[in-house]
Amino acid sequence: MESFDVIVCGGGAAGVGAAVGAAQSGARVALLERYGFLGGAATNAQVLSYCGFYQCDSRGDRAIGGVGYQALLELAKLRENIQPHHSELTGNRIILLDPEKLKYALDQLVLSHRVELLLHTTLVQVKKQDSHLQAIDLVDLFQQKSLSGTAFVDATGNGQLARFAGLSCRVNQQEKHFQSMSLPIRLGGLPKDLTIDREAIKAAVAVYNQQAVFTIPRQDGGVFMRVPNSNDWLWMIVDLGLSDIREDLVTKAEWMGRKIANDCVAVLRSEVTGFEHCHIVNTGPQIGIREAWRPVAQYALKREDLEIGRKFDSGIARAAWPMEDHSKPGKPSYLPIGGSGYGLVPLEALSTKIPNLWLAGRTIGADADAYGSIRVMGTSFATGQAAGVAAALFAQQHECPQSYQVIAKLKAQEALL
Ligand SMILES: Cc1cc2nc3c(=O)[nH]c(=O)nc-3n(C[C@H](O)[C@H](O)[C@H](O)COP(=O)(O)OP(=O)(O)OC[C@H]3O[C@@H](n4cnc5c(N)ncnc54)[C@H](O)[C@@H]3O)c2cc1C
Repeated sequence: MESFDVIVCGGGAAGVGAAVGAAQSGARVALLERYGFLGGAATNAQVLSYCGFYQCDSRGDRAIGGVGYQALLELAKLRENIQPHHSELTGNRIILLDPEKLKYALDQLVLSHRVELLLHTTLVQVKKQDSHLQAIDLVDLFQQKSLSGTAFVDATGNGQLARFAGLSCRVNQQEKHFQSMSLPIRLGGLPKDLTIDREAIKAAVAVYNQQAVFTIPRQDGGVFMRVPNSNDWLWMIVDLGLSDIREDLVTKAEWMGRKIANDCVAVLRSEVTGFEHCHIVNTGPQIGIREAWRPVAQYALKREDLEIGRKFDSGIARAAWPMEDHSKPGKPSYLPIGGSGYGLVPLEALSTKIPNLWLAGRTIGADADAYGSIRVMGTSFATGQAAGVAAALFAQQHECPQSYQVIAKLKAQEALL
């Protein structure tokens, strides 16, 4: 069985952060991803904007360095614009993404750090010895296999590794809700100089809702974003509630989402000037799932921590995105981050009862409100990098690193703390 110092499961922002963070700390790293490309929700669910890289207050300072910033620099090498787009409407600062450029940039980043990249590879089971994780079972396109590791990072977004390892997960218990799912729609066939007439879009959604079986709660016409390097626009209009974590409910959401998207785009074609020839370029490969299994970490970041921008002594990543709540489909709301415009995520939100397993990205410990902040991709790069560094230190010293050791390595890797 092949053996690694650190095994990272999941190749989204958190997984890339973890794999590169661990490799930069001297570890031999395997990174596995079930799709044929990296990027997570950005590339598999068309979430085409990075949030959390910049503070959303009047200062607008950059909050993410390290691996996340290296990913942006890879995009810049491909002539992508990595300057934040400042929304007049919300005050938020986001970086717009071309999904194909992002896939390529993340390949370059990960491979340049000699990470063993295993695409089309799905985690299916784990092996434990006493309290520690020892190995994982995988299935790739052609075979099943196992890898052994000294330390592990769960960057699956859904807490798959932690669940397989037997950690309990918080599901709608002390939590208020699940965040709703969304199906971003990429629209093509639009004029180069299109400006979005929000009133016309709102009116078209109202026309759609009058005749629809499945109505659209975003009566404000949703969110439109230009897709870089194209005349296409991304339309965030289809939201679907998730009442439980079950595959049959996600399957239903996929086909319902596609029906809503197709019917609604037909209404745009007939009702809105400029949209006469528009068509759906893409809606996938999967619906965007904001929230699923949430493994129990040693600390759950709290709303109150972010309301005052708390700086924990064991802080390993900045959380600068407002607490964005999607518990009611179609009605997002925002709670600002207080203090100096960011809070620090403590290392304890990444560590678990299993001494050689760390959580990263949207699997880390957070209450329902703080989750709305830490789950965004900029922050996920940063918590991923910290998880990777902690796992690499564990692999070197065979005991859990102290937070000051993780912080020192992160600073050396130019993370912003
Ligand atoms: C509709 C929607 C809109 C959003 N809008 C924004 C936004 O505008 N900006 C922003 O920054 N964030 C946004 N978010 C939040 C953000 O996309 C996620 O919280 C973020 O992607 C979390 O990063 P991650 O790396 O933890 O997880 P993910 O991006 O989900 O990555 C997890 C990876 O693990 C892989 N994986 C899962 N299980 C396995 C397995 N068993 N074996 C192998 N691989 C596995 C998945 O394929 C995936 O690539 C949005 C989310 C949704 C759903």
